[in-house]
Amino acid sequence: MLPTLGTDVLIVGGGIAGLWLNARLRQAGYATLLLESASLGGGQSVKSQGIIHGGTKYALHGALTGASEAIADMPRRWRRALAGDGELDLSGVRLLSDAHYLWSPGTLAGKLTSFFASKAVRARVEQVKDGALPAALRDPAFRGSVYRLDELVLDVPSLIGRLAELAGDALLAAREIAPLREAGELVGLSVDGREIRAQRIVFCAGAGNAELLAALGLSQPAMQRRPLHMVMLKAPSLEPLYAHCLGGGVKPRLTVTSHPAADGQWVWYLGGDLAEAEGVARDETRQIVTARHELNDLLPWIDLSQARWATLRVDRAEPAQSALARPDNAFLAEQGRLLVGWPTKLALAPDLADRIFASLERDAVRPAAHPPLPALPRPPLARPAWEELLP
Ligand code: FAD
Repeated sequence: MLPTLGTDVLIVGGGIAGLWLNARLRQAGYATLLLESASLGGGQSVKSQGIIHGGTKYALHGALTGASEAIADMPRRWRRALAGDGELDLSGVRLLSDAHYLWSPGTLAGKLTSFFASKAVRARVEQVKDGALPAALRDPAFRGSVYRLDELVLDVPSLIGRLAELAGDALLAAREIAPLREAGELVGLSVDGREIRAQRIVFCAGAGNAELLAALGLSQPAMQRRPLHMVMLKAPSLEPLYAHCLGGGVKPRLTVTSHPAADGQWVWYLGGDLAEAEGVARDETRQIVTARHELNDLLPWIDLSQARWATLRVDRAEPAQSALARPDNAFLAEQGRLLVGWPTKLALAPDLADRIFASLERDAVRPAAHPPLPALPRPPLARPAWEELLP
């Protein structure tokens, strides 16, 4: 029988939500332990596009919505962390782009008029032309308008690596997790036969939250999955591009981000409308044909003759909402010692941590004295999806 461990906050899930929370708690003097059943970041986080949204994308229909207001402050907070003077020291994390761009392929002037009718949007975007255009759009054949958004794009694998460093010895590779109850109350978890007691237990295991809740006999908070069918391509001719391309609807027609592969080439990662419902219904071959057609239509000067292609199916995990509407904020539910959260966006991990700190503060949960942790098996870092699919 392994000795029982004690900690202040026991976190389940080593994606951005759990790792960010863990680092904040440790910095505030709390003892923590984070359990990960697969690899750090390997759920949605390293499969994300790494855009730290400020909400402008959601203002495409003219008015700022709740979503835009809630995340408007995130780029500033992340920038400070990256500069080493924010809530966490992320100074070694690779910034892929200091801005994300919004590009209208020329025929959608009306759409942009309503977009810029919002004063809050006008303050956060700036039109760019000629030499200031992203390299991939700097072609004599390019028609359209391009706007620089106050949003940034991060290299998520390096972000996860840095947060794993900040976790120190508080990471534990876990296979079997079961509730630990005393007099009917949840007091901790039993992990691979070892009891771990904690003042608070936080489930932030992305899509894994549903199963963890079911093991406790709980059906609330309910979770929804939003399937996506993303496309990636790798070619020597690709230069980095970070942009939403406007389409006819309120969502971007295409969202392109670019990621450095280990062999020095760039991988373009394509999301937006392409990856949503109709894209999900397509098989891999038809999805690649559609993506190729989109790029040929929008950026015909890009040489794709040597491109290698792959698709990636991945679900976003979020709190259940009616008609799969996009949630506006990080989400937190509480029940006794148990807290359950979904950041709903990588960018909103700081917002989820704020909500958890507010809960600890309200309940006067303070750092307590615990014996040092023994050496524990550490979960591995996830490999980027493009290295797996396009080696
Ligand atoms: P995850 O990253 O899924 O991490 C959950 C972790 O919990 C995993 O490591 C998993 O292995 C672990 N786990 C699961 N079950 C258990 C268990 N029983 N025990 C222990 N561990 C467990 N957001 C943005 O802000 N910007 C973007 O550009 C962006 N692009 C995206 C693109 C795609 C294709 C997708 C899918 C999402 C994107 N998002 C983006 C959303 C963002 O990725 C997610 O909101 C965020 O990564 C969720 O983080 P998380 O830590 O909650 O979950």
